[in-house]
Amino acid sequence: MSVQVVAAKMAEVDLKDIPSGKALPADSPVSPATEGKNIGKNEASSSAAMSPSAESSAKAGEGLLTPNPGKMPQASALKRTDPQQNGGEAFVNRDGTVAEAPRMKKIQFADQKQEFSKRPSKIGRRSLSRSISQSSTDSYSSAASYTDSSDDETSPRDKQQKNSKGNGDFCIKNIKQAEFGRREIEIAEQEMPALMALRKRAQGEKPLAGAKVVGCTHITAQTAVLMETLSALGAQCRWAACNIYSTQNEVAAALAEGGFSVFAWKGESEDDFWWCIDRCVNVEGWQPNMILDDGGDLTHWIYKKYPNMFKKIKGIVEESVTGVHRLYQLSKAGKLCVPAMNVNDSVTKQKFDNLYCCRESILDGLKRTTDVMFGGKQVVVCGYGEVGKGCCAALKAMGSIVYVTEIDPICALQACMDGFRLVKLNEVIRQVDIVITCTGNKNVVVRENLDRMKNGCIVCNMGHSNTEIDVASLRTPELTWERVRSQVDHVIWPDGKRIVLLAEGRLLNLSCSTVPTFVLSITATTQALALIELYNAPEGRYKQDVYLLPKKMDEYVASLHLPTFDAHLTELSDEQAKYLGLNKNGPFKPNYYRY
Ligand code: NAD
Repeated sequence: MSVQVVAAKMAEVDLKDIPSGKALPADSPVSPATEGKNIGKNEASSSAAMSPSAESSAKAGEGLLTPNPGKMPQASALKRTDPQQNGGEAFVNRDGTVAEAPRMKKIQFADQKQEFSKRPSKIGRRSLSRSISQSSTDSYSSAASYTDSSDDETSPRDKQQKNSKGNGDFCIKNIKQAEFGRREIEIAEQEMPALMALRKRAQGEKPLAGAKVVGCTHITAQTAVLMETLSALGAQCRWAACNIYSTQNEVAAALAEGGFSVFAWKGESEDDFWWCIDRCVNVEGWQPNMILDDGGDLTHWIYKKYPNMFKKIKGIVEESVTGVHRLYQLSKAGKLCVPAMNVNDSVTKQKFDNLYCCRESILDGLKRTTDVMFGGKQVVVCGYGEVGKGCCAALKAMGSIVYVTEIDPICALQACMDGFRLVKLNEVIRQVDIVITCTGNKNVVVRENLDRMKNGCIVCNMGHSNTEIDVASLRTPELTWERVRSQVDHVIWPDGKRIVLLAEGRLLNLSCSTVPTFVLSITATTQALALIELYNAPEGRYKQDVYLLPKKMDEYVASLHLPTFDAHLTELSDEQAKYLGLNKNGPFKPNYYRY
């Protein structure tokens, strides 16, 4: 594929959906005056290290996204260390065994064998699903799903299905649901303008031609829009679900009908989960050269079972905190053998997925499960990071009295400045009506706290892992559990006091509500661009390490979403650009800027 041709073609595409002035990522390096000397140095050294031919193709690669191809900030300048490195154990031990990281449950292979049981019993399925890898149960996506009213309990693995073209290279619940799934995908397309714009921009030329992408993400309508975009850009895709519950069966059916090799259904057992992943990669005559992962399970499966595949793999794009953490651990252990893109820490992803998404979905999740009235309720939110800030803002707006707990004085001070009372959990635990954890930490709410809560207190988690609330400590003989609704348990003390535990301490919004499609659009666009970047990067631009997406691409993702709001972006004048030491087309902020 000629990157130059694609660049030129993309530049020709109708730009009316891009805000004037800064629509596309710009071509100049960040000014040292604003960017800071370190960045400048990194850029200089990384481009110096590039061969002339590599550099020219690098420039061409940038053109993929800009009408004025030029020098993009070298992504190596954006290399970061593991944000969670304090105390983390290795993801993979030196002897190749899987180790448990402190903030995540380890990946549990069915039995470390590559044989899969044919049909786990229903009970077997239930119990297996409890022990499944955390990332496969605790990451987040839209949970809305068409309800299949059929009583068909046959495991999809036992069904022989074919789509209308006679293709049977998929394993899903029911191909007959394809029409419903198509409607879902069409609805999602309305809220995913950037991916639709990317499709338009790649008309004719295919920046992912030859790419064989194996993916493991939530299989939802939004993912379908991403997959169909990747396909429009030239990629072949095989996909499994990263979560045993989140697959929208009808969407999987629509994808299979459209010719995608999808292996996923809602309510997989753990055995099914790994079997589906294996079916994606272990296939005759097809070998992936790109990985798109959410949680790291797919990446790990390939490392464990098919390490030779990495000879052909050009890069990994990882979306989740957990998966990124695992990549950094691999990198630290010297075991990362291809470049990886940390999409999770892109500014657009962090701000939208963590802050704005949680601001909307916390209320939705609580309302759907408990019908609670927020006005006047006392709520304590543990953690005032992006997710905590979103939750607090939403609850405050609804008239709740919000307390915050924090360990970091900077976030604590932010909470104070935003008008929240900063407290220790113990100080308010007796009086609050709702407890929400959003720390990414473990044992933030422990049995002692749960014992002291008042009758009717609602307890839930918005952080990634289900270790924030010590739910295991509630499974003792003196406490009675009563399932009152789907995802709602009453835990009853001997004196009759009960607390309302939501989603057994798992992510509330994944389990009990939906995530706005627009938010997922931002993440999906970032993923698509990361794939394009890694796939087209010239030899030497990326080493065997973990990278952030170049800032210009982050800005590009944002700009692709602005037309939805009929937003009119101000353009820098030449004089202003010179004054600020910026290129008129960006990037507009140094990498250390916090937004
Ligand atoms: P963050 O690092 O910005 O914020 C977490 C905050 O918790 C930090 O300020 C930290 O100081 C604080 N903290 C840590 N331990 C604490 C403790 N014991 N008590 C009180 N505060 C403590 O992270 P974030 O972006 O806000 O994400 C938080 C979690 O939510 C992560 O696990 C992330 O994966 C998850 N997440 C969830 C969603 C969702 O849709 N529910 C979306 C994005 C991220």
